[in-house]
Amino acid sequence: MKNIYMLIFLTITVQLASRPPLLSIHFLNAGHGDATLIRTPAGKTLMVDCGSRTFGQVHLPRIMHLFRIRQIDALFLSHPHDDHIGGVHALLKNVRIKVLLEPGFACDSSVYCKLLNNCQRNNIPIQFPTAGTSIHVEPGLTIQILSPPAGLFRYTRSDINNNSLVLLLIYKNIRILFPGDAENVALAALFKRYPLLRCDVIKIPHHGSRTAHLPGMYRKLQPSIAIIPCGRNSPWGIPSPLLLYSLKREDVKIYRTDINGTIRIDSNGYTLSVQTNKATHFNE
Ligand SMILES: [Zn+2]
Repeated sequence: MKNIYMLIFLTITVQLASRPPLLSIHFLNAGHGDATLIRTPAGKTLMVDCGSRTFGQVHLPRIMHLFRIRQIDALFLSHPHDDHIGGVHALLKNVRIKVLLEPGFACDSSVYCKLLNNCQRNNIPIQFPTAGTSIHVEPGLTIQILSPPAGLFRYTRSDINNNSLVLLLIYKNIRILFPGDAENVALAALFKRYPLLRCDVIKIPHHGSRTAHLPGMYRKLQPSIAIIPCGRNSPWGIPSPLLLYSLKREDVKIYRTDINGTIRIDSNGYTLSVQTNKATHFNE
């Protein structure tokens, strides 16, 4: 009998030991802001946006400590609005950032100027990738930059939003789309340039605003999971009823940071599993 228990124990131990490391993506509950932490199977740490200044001050040091993160291998900032880049100052105080990638759209906001000065002081290299750039992160994992185009968008409703970095993370068979706050002009150009674009998971652009919604876009993309980074009681009426209707019509499973808290997706490159943590409420 004892031998049977030993055999079961050994089998479980071997199974645990042989389980391949997973890609883990944490869509952080950043209130009205947007912040995603990515841990790769090889142990790298990436971030796509880092929420507002307040979110950064209140939560990022704790999150970095919790995950024992001392270094961010690449920080992607989709565009220079405070709800996406404000947290960078808290990050700089707590971790080393190896490289920062952003769209390079000239913007004279104080938060963006401070960001550039802070990076300069800390000797952090800044890159401005444009559509067509492919970043090899590690074997099996790449990030493709799908937008903005080299010439950038001009004279749109919001040039800052439309020039958002749009990332497609590809891990084996799984594709996760991060469109920043790209609005209709950028999204239309995206579908024109990549007519066969598909993804399994989409971080919904511009927090689910009507300004980032094209008819039929979710039918084309065919995601099975949508993540909406949005705060409670949004004064801007987001996520828009039109977005929610479109996602439901395409049978896309919806997760919202205002309802579900932080949303974690794990993947072995072929399947996805989702966990939510409502304890992580933040609403500024
Ligand atoms: Zn935003």
